[in-house]
This record gives sequence, C-alpha cells and structure tokens, in this order.
Amino acid sequence: MQKLNKIILYCRSGFEKECAAEITDRAAQKNIFGFAKVKDNEGYAIFECYQSEDAQILIKELAFRTLIFARQMFIVGDMLANLPTEDRISPIIDVLTGCIDKAGDLRVEIPDTNEGKELTGFCRKFTVPLRQALRNKQILSKIHDASKPVIHLFFINNNSCYVGYSYNQNNSPFYMGIPRLRFPNDAPSRSTLKLEEAFHIFIPYEEWDERLKSGLNAVDLGASPGGWTYQLVKRSMIVYAIDNGTMNSKLMETGQVKHYREDGFKFEPKKHNIYWLVCDMVEKPSKVTELITKWLISGWCREAIFNLKLPMKKRYEEVKQNLQLLNEKLNNKHINVQIQAKQLYHDREEVTVHVQRIWG
Ligand code: SAM
Repeated sequence: MQKLNKIILYCRSGFEKECAAEITDRAAQKNIFGFAKVKDNEGYAIFECYQSEDAQILIKELAFRTLIFARQMFIVGDMLANLPTEDRISPIIDVLTGCIDKAGDLRVEIPDTNEGKELTGFCRKFTVPLRQALRNKQILSKIHDASKPVIHLFFINNNSCYVGYSYNQNNSPFYMGIPRLRFPNDAPSRSTLKLEEAFHIFIPYEEWDERLKSGLNAVDLGASPGGWTYQLVKRSMIVYAIDNGTMNSKLMETGQVKHYREDGFKFEPKKHNIYWLVCDMVEKPSKVTELITKWLISGWCREAIFNLKLPMKKRYEEVKQNLQLLNEKLNNKHINVQIQAKQLYHDREEVTVHVQRIWG
C-alpha cells in the first residue's frame, strides 16, 4: 500500500515559492517538518512530511481558510507515472483502496497552466469510467455526499497523476479551487470579479443578507473606473467613490454613487455610518495596511476588503509582516477583529485581505 505522506497545494502560476514558504512555515508552527518541492510556473507545490502520519494531521488540522497562497489542499502519495494507456484505472484504485473509507465526491483536476489546460478534455472523458469503477468498488458513494471526503486526481500529463483526498470541512469547495464567476457585461472593469470573488470566499452565504444588504454605506478608495463600486451598487448600497480618475457614467446615473476627486489616503468620512471600506489603490502594502488600520481604529467602518499589491521578491514575508502589524496595532487598541487573506483566482500580483470588526 502506498504511504500518503505529502500534501499538494494548488496556487497561482508564479507563486509556487510563496505557497511553499507558507506551508513550510505553517506546518512548523504545528511542529510538523518536511520539505517543499516546487518548480516555477507549475501552479502547485508539494510538501513532503518527514513523518508520514503528519500529512494526515495537516489536512485535518491546518485550517485551509487560513492559507493565503493555496487554492486547494489535499493528501497524496508518490506520483503514479507511466500509467498504462489501456488501464489507467487499476493503479488508481490500488492507491485508494484501504486508505479511504468512502468518498462522496470525485474531482479529476489539472494545474491551472497552459500545459494543464490541454488536458481538460482528457480529464472530462476519463472522469466517467473512473467514477463508475470507484462506485463499483464502493470507494465512492452512489450519489454526491458532502459529508464525506473528496477524491482528487491531479493529472500532470495524460499518463501521470497524483491520487489523494481532502476533507470537505477543510478544503475549497470549488473544482481546482477556482470559483467560476461570470463577468457581468455592464461592469466597468474586469477587476469587478475580484471583489465578487472576495465576497464568495470571505463571507459565509448565510450571512450575505445581513452583511451585504441593501442600504449599507460603503467607501471605495481608488474606485475608478468603478468595477468594485459596481458590486456594491448591484447590492443596492450607497457608495462614496474616491479617485481622481473618472467613474463609469452608468454607475453615476444610478444615483447611488457619490464621486469625490480626493486623495484616498486623506479622505475622511463625514458621518460614522460606513459599513464597508474597500480599497484597490496601487500603493506599497505597508502604506495601505497603515491606512486600513487607521480606519478600523477610528471606527470609520465595520468591515474592510483591500488588496496588497506584491511587485517585490519576498512576497510571503511581505504579506505576513503586514498582517502581523495590522493585528498587533488593533490588539493594542483592544479592537477585536477577524482577519482573512487569500490570493484569489482573479488576483494577479496581489492578495486580498478581509477584516471584520467583532464586538462583545
Ligand atoms: N477597483 C477599481 C475597479 O474595479 O475599477 C480599479 C482600481 S485601479 C487598480 C487603482 C485606482 O487607484 C486608480 O484608478 C488610481 O487612480 C487610484 N489611486 C491610486 N492612488 C490613489 C490615491 N492616493 N487616492 C485615490 N485614488 C488613488
């Protein structure tokens, strides 16, 4: 039987080193040691644990939602290479037999790279007989069952793949860890999808009615041409859009947007009735973090979503330092918050951070 002693983490192509640095750091905090293997632009990192049982601990106990650069996380063994073209299924079943009781879902996945995309058709076709075979062997439930683990196959080429699984309570619910969002034709910029994705990732659906409800006031710093403002307007909020640049005229016609041609670092709300602060200004991460900290300490907003742009080399360290600083400064003022950060699918050289103030 294969030992499942590694975990795979999907990430944005080009961010493999950050993903590897993060998992190594976070595993070490749990006294779990191993080494990360990455190649540039492959869209994933592998962390091999020195103690094989530690991989199981990681996929259960290291909260997936707290990882910044990982889109998905699951346990695997060695790569199955040179799968026979006439029967790729038997070796896969051999790996899964005995290591998983019964799974409730199957995802046949690929790296999010140009090479990976060429395998899309193959994976789609292969899923059908594989699913049937896994059901016949009672490794996969007859119908989708969200309470059971998810089997992942990760194809590197059409005869090599990793086989493993994740737990539903501790993974991304999306195929390849990517939420599929449709670009709204009337949105002023593609960045609109960044804020929409942030809502999906950071805010539980059962709380949308409360936290994204109509009538809330929002401030959008660096708003032009209006992609983020569009998301807030769509949810019937009133938006103070701060930017020297122009705002999309259709958004302005809604009457829900007040445009101030001011410096986002100097703007102060006149009334204390702002629920959302969102900020997409291209500036040094430390300067943006300081600004958001000021807003939260001053009690000018209840929740904030902002981007930290990462043109520098040590990107994991940069994000970590800024989040620590934010946390420390708010702690010193006894302001209770929940902080989440993720490199979203629609993010490029950046990560998105969410902060929610919590009272009592
Ligand atoms: N979120 C916008 C959207 O979805 O359409 C795109 C924002 S764009 C990435 C960054 C914006 O920040 C630019 O329009 C720029 O004018 C604005 N910006 C940069 N520095 C600023 C500052 N100090 N004050 C106000 N706006 C600023």
